[in-house]
Amino acid sequence: MYSVPKLKSFSEAALDKAVEKLLATLKTESKAVKNEEDWKAFRDRWMARKNGVLTQINDLWLKASPKDSKRDVGQRVNEIKAKVTEVVEGRQIKGISRAAVDSLEFRDSVRAEVTQRLDITLPGIRRPLGAEHPVIKTMHEIVSVFRNLGYSVQEGPVIETDYYNFEALNFPPNHPARDTQDTLFIARQESKPQRERLLLRTHTSPVQIRTMEKMKPPIRIVIPGVVHRNDPPDASHSPMFHQIEGLAVDTNITFCDLKGTLDHAMKALFGSSVKTSFRPSFFPFTEPSAEMLVSCFICGGSGKRNSEPCRPCKQTGWIEILGCGMVDPNVYAFVDYDPRKVSGFAFGMGADRIAILKYGVDDIQLFFNGDVRFLEQFG
Ligand SMILES: [Zn+2]
Repeated sequence: MYSVPKLKSFSEAALDKAVEKLLATLKTESKAVKNEEDWKAFRDRWMARKNGVLTQINDLWLKASPKDSKRDVGQRVNEIKAKVTEVVEGRQIKGISRAAVDSLEFRDSVRAEVTQRLDITLPGIRRPLGAEHPVIKTMHEIVSVFRNLGYSVQEGPVIETDYYNFEALNFPPNHPARDTQDTLFIARQESKPQRERLLLRTHTSPVQIRTMEKMKPPIRIVIPGVVHRNDPPDASHSPMFHQIEGLAVDTNITFCDLKGTLDHAMKALFGSSVKTSFRPSFFPFTEPSAEMLVSCFICGGSGKRNSEPCRPCKQTGWIEILGCGMVDPNVYAFVDYDPRKVSGFAFGMGADRIAILKYGVDDIQLFFNGDVRFLEQFG
């Protein structure tokens, strides 16, 4: 068996010969490694701190060398160390077994290797944190205002039947909203009776019906969700957008409750100085119906911004923000409520529109293009 010789001469020729013999032995012995046991013995023989071959050449060659050949010997010893490490590791990777990986000893040796090579000054891998989409963020804010008033959140399917989207909400059969110009219908539904035909819901109101079918009054719910309409995309329209609706049904609910609730909600959302105003409107499922306006929170209701006309409120000082009304008694008939005993109000607003106003965005498409440069401004 090979043992590291003491060198009589440190001449280049002598060193060459000694190194050559050592490397030849390394090659032969590495070939003889057949299993993990062999490999461990091989590793220890060459690399063990105590009496390994590398330690021996350090002692017998480098330390023993005369001053003038130290540099040459040192260089050779370093090369040998690198070569030995490479060969020992190479054998190890090839002969690796599951058991070896699991053995603590092996893991420790790998860890030691990794630690030795780890350059902690290298920059790490950056994992930028995501952020809420501005529309989702706005929805969460609106929902939380109503949650604080004791409302609970309800959700429902985006693909709805004509019954829940229109019929049960008191839309007459020939209402223009039922037209394909306005509503996106699922294809090949013609053979079904109208009330069973599937469509992409045009508002979140079907969830009001679904909830009233399941629950008896008192009901206080908010319904956030995605809705679709057959609108070509432009700066203020998108075929897909987000709504938040609310419904409160109980005994003795009046229009005053509606006004008080929504006035509070707007102050919570836009600041305590905003005023609200109601004007008559029409929706099939509420009677009476109203549109609610808030005083423009961008120009403070003056219609002007630094002597420039205020665009969001079109210089009127008011912004139309939602539709609302007292639930039409006809709707209660669809869900088995007694309109003589209960009353309630409903309201709905576009979350995208509110996000547009809030963040001063001038094109709704920006929300849905998925351009990170736009979105990360809200992070
Ligand atoms: Zn304004």
